[in-house]
Amino acid sequence: MEQTFIILKPSTIIRGLVGDVMTRFQRKGLRIAGIKMLQLDEDILRRHYAHLVDKPFFPLILKSMMATPVIVAVLAGKDAVTVVRTMTGATNCRKADPGTIRGDFGMSGQENIVHASDSVENAKAEIERFFKPEEIFDYTLPTQAALYAADEL
Ligand code: ADP
Repeated sequence: MEQTFIILKPSTIIRGLVGDVMTRFQRKGLRIAGIKMLQLDEDILRRHYAHLVDKPFFPLILKSMMATPVIVAVLAGKDAVTVVRTMTGATNCRKADPGTIRGDFGMSGQENIVHASDSVENAKAEIERFFKPEEIFDYTLPTQAALYAADEL
């Protein structure tokens, strides 16, 4: 099954939304393949957000993403990258569709609840950046036969 990577950002920890966000992913049928808490630092954020380091708002991202520890997770399921990005919604919470996580839980462009990998290649790189192989678990949910048709597996 495809894997994707998410970060529950500090604002999500501070606002007490960890359970609400993770519940959405679980209820959708995504399998938690790995999950842990860690403190981000500037070095890893410069690599994770390499496409943004030259933006004027990058210092704000650094401060915000290091404000508390974060929760990182690997979610698995068919087309997991696209499914999770669709559930996450547009970058700016004020423009994200209702029903998406950002659309339902946030008001900010920067403090937007959750990071989600935007491609299969980036998901692979991000999982390798944040997780050791032994921290990712390959198990089958007993619900799998009810979540997918036989020809989807
Ligand atoms: P996404 O998280 O939707 O994939 P990006 O990769 O473009 O979006 O941006 C990474 C993160 O940087 C965003 O989630 C958001 O927290 C922050 N960010 C992006 N654009 C802006 C902006 N114009 N002003 C402030 N923060 C921003």
